[in-house]
Amino acid sequence: MDFHLSEELELLKETVRRFVDEELIPREAEFHPEADPMPEEMLRTLQEKARSIDLWLLDVPKEYGGMDLDLLTRCVIFEEVGRTIVIPYRMNEVFGPEVRPPLFYCNDEQKERYLYPVLKGEKRMCFALTEPDAGSDPAGMQTRAVQDGDDYIINGTKRFISGAGYSDFIQVMALTDAEKRARGGITSFLVDVDTPGVTLSRRQPTMMGDSPWEIVFEDVRVSEANVLGNVGDGFKLAQEWLTDGRVRCHGAQSVGMAQRALDLMMDYALDRMTFGKPLAERQAIQFMIADSIMDIHQARLMVYDCAWRHDQGENVRNASYGVKIVCTEMAGRVVDRAIQVFGGMGLTQELPLEWMYRQLRSIRITEGATEVLRWRMAQNVLRNRSKN
Ligand SMILES: Cc1cc2nc3c(=O)[nH]c(=O)nc-3n(C[C@H](O)[C@H](O)[C@H](O)COP(=O)(O)OP(=O)(O)OC[C@H]3O[C@@H](n4cnc5c(N)ncnc54)[C@H](O)[C@@H]3O)c2cc1C
Repeated sequence: MDFHLSEELELLKETVRRFVDEELIPREAEFHPEADPMPEEMLRTLQEKARSIDLWLLDVPKEYGGMDLDLLTRCVIFEEVGRTIVIPYRMNEVFGPEVRPPLFYCNDEQKERYLYPVLKGEKRMCFALTEPDAGSDPAGMQTRAVQDGDDYIINGTKRFISGAGYSDFIQVMALTDAEKRARGGITSFLVDVDTPGVTLSRRQPTMMGDSPWEIVFEDVRVSEANVLGNVGDGFKLAQEWLTDGRVRCHGAQSVGMAQRALDLMMDYALDRMTFGKPLAERQAIQFMIADSIMDIHQARLMVYDCAWRHDQGENVRNASYGVKIVCTEMAGRVVDRAIQVFGGMGLTQELPLEWMYRQLRSIRITEGATEVLRWRMAQNVLRNRSKN
């Protein structure tokens, strides 16, 4: 067993580290991601720089001009990226337009209308699953799509939809068979935002600065040519993508965030004098540093192990639940300690810590609350055990 990254991955890590240190961290004072996306000019400049070091369309298949990088490689990249607050968890376009993998299930005609324009940065999309009465349990959704000849008519309300106000179309999940629900009764539709009956009814500002939208669908008529994949396959299309996000984004990116917080905390502890000595000489502070080092090490190994297993073809859905839980809770603890070590300065917006603290708090709820993931993990393990 060799726990070292390959020479090739070490070199890549170094390249990304330099990009983060030279291009992103110095821009933190200029751009603090909150409600709105990065200003166009800054985005274009960073995109050109990312392209110049061959970091472009990282997870897009080669046939569409992407790099098709495996999950471990992307985790190594995103661990470094997690060290800066210029690239948030949501709406990251620095390494190319955000192409959500379900779009690769488009048929040829849909590719012309949706996939290619997204790849070229001409169109943006959002993903609408959550509803006022169906968040952790999306199978309980009320939004229905009823067939009418060659069309479907969609009615319902979606809530907390990130980026809807900047999107040209929506991937909407709707019930097509109320009996089957999660087992083949939910279908994915691609709906243009300007379709009659689609209303962005309100924004809900959150503590992270994000302001996701509520969207009302009232007798929205779409052609059956707007069904993504097969009727009833809506959940199946989302699964692989969600697993990937838990490992790369909630896992690796959180490890990077924790590493930056630890680095800042150590440097400050060495410099800051109280009662005639640097903080670094106080055992209370040393314990916080030691605990953070151990926390980060465990979480990092878990991310790499899970990504590697995924790349070997293993089903890592359960393992990815663990990665998200461990990494987000771990990073929350480390950032909290860093804020404590910095005292009042830790609470100011002059440091990235308060932003990290707010983001990390949100990830323990969004895209799968940690209680739900723990529950699902235990259910899956117990089900397999009872079969033996
Ligand atoms: C900023 C932001 C952006 C978002 N972006 C999107 C988006 O783009 N698209 C989209 O579709 N959705 C999006 N969401 C929705 C998000 O994924 C949901 O908020 C999340 O899944 C939780 O659903 P809920 O808020 O309805 O909480 P609920 O389902 O009501 O759960 C509330 C709490 O109950 C607990 N809980 C629930 N079930 C269980 C259980 N079985 N066992 C133990 N405890 C349980 C958990 O602690 C959970 O936090 C976004 C949300 C936010 C805040």
